[in-house]
Amino acid sequence: MKKTILITGWTGYIGSHWVVAFEQAWYKTVIVDNLVNSSLKSLDWIEKILWYKPDFYNVDLRTSLQPSPLEERGQVEKINYIDWKEVKWNFSLEEVFKKYGFDWVIHFAWLKAVWESCEKPLEYFDNNIVWTIKLFEVMEKFWVKNIIFSSSATVYDSRVYEDKNFSWAVETDLTWNTTNPYGTTKFITEQILRDLSSFSGFRVANLRYFNPIWAHESWVIWEDPAWIPNNLLPYIMKVATWELEKLKVFWWDYPTIDWTWVRDYIDVVDLIEGHLKSYEKITSPQPSPLGEREQGQFEVYNLWVGRGISVLEMVEVARKVTWKEISYEIVERRSWDLAEVYCNPNKAKKELNWEAKISLEDSLKNSWKFYNK
Ligand code: NAD
Ligand code: UDP
Repeated sequence: MKKTILITGWTGYIGSHWVVAFEQAWYKTVIVDNLVNSSLKSLDWIEKILWYKPDFYNVDLRTSLQPSPLEERGQVEKINYIDWKEVKWNFSLEEVFKKYGFDWVIHFAWLKAVWESCEKPLEYFDNNIVWTIKLFEVMEKFWVKNIIFSSSATVYDSRVYEDKNFSWAVETDLTWNTTNPYGTTKFITEQILRDLSSFSGFRVANLRYFNPIWAHESWVIWEDPAWIPNNLLPYIMKVATWELEKLKVFWWDYPTIDWTWVRDYIDVVDLIEGHLKSYEKITSPQPSPLGEREQGQFEVYNLWVGRGISVLEMVEVARKVTWKEISYEIVERRSWDLAEVYCNPNKAKKELNWEAKISLEDSLKNSWKFYNK
């Protein structure tokens, strides 16, 4: 029988890619999102791929039956524009759980801007931890205990990345000593899920990733920051199209190949593949001394390419792909940045038979096709 999956935060960047994979794999997907960082446009994009609209509920994890924050943010016009008639407004999470017998939850709904988390830590703790616990309560109440959680490489102790003998993180490394409140919210939620797997039978695929880039090759869905982007690749692309004048490189005196920050950029389509593989792994039957019902599981995987790219290397690749000059200037560093962040993806390779396949050049080419339109 077709499995039914609840995806929170679906209309966001990663979620809207995820559903494509899931629908293609013949799962029924139900979506909840409060649209605080996304718009119903994603649903239109998805319809172009799937030829139908998945069930969408405008649920805010922070409230049950209160008015949509969309109205507060003046986005109602957008809805009229796309004429989205099937949105179910103002439902509580419990009502949605009552309506469907979910097999799984994929939890993407989160506030994710690291800089903003440094300005408003309490808002991040509230949205990302308090209301995630409410989600877990509802899951437990309805006996839905399978979950994929999007964690992040921010959970690793910053010293793991700074240790020169040991510069990439493996799943068994210490998680602690985060550099920003966003990372703290992921760290605490991981601990909660680990305990729920030990004491409440939750089966968890806890996926740690960072720096996903670009979009589905159909170009129908993409990362679409309407405002000035925070992330490197969309910023570079907007410089290439002359929408922005210069990239601001956040300082260069780090012990890296060219003194600029090094990150591991993964194509979002590869990332979704990794989610599917982890889903298969967690749902495959396992012998349990405790019996099927009580068997908990907590599997951690780094979903990474395992390849460090500096900011200036990224600029170079973008120049090659776009044939445009990418001007940049050096500005003040961001307080939370670490010089080099990359993780070892070998556990996922070995246990999930997954590895990232899309080259950086191809990701950037797809990116450019969209921005160059
Ligand atoms: P996104 O902001 O594009 O999507 C998150 C979605 O969650 C948005 O649509 C937003 O409206 C929704 N949301 C937030 N709070 C909500 C609430 N209280 N109730 C209902 N909906 C709510 O983010 P993304 O890039 O798609 O990231 C998805 C997940 O992956 C997040 O958990 C993020 O922390 C994690 N992650 C992202 C990255 C990255 O670089 N993009 C890296 C590592 C982990
Ligand atoms: N970066 C930069 N200028 C920008 C955006 C990012 O120099 O306008 C650098 C940033 O310091 C980091 C890397 O590019 O080292 C990737 O940044 P992004 O914000 O995309 O992801 P992060 O690693 O911070 O999550």
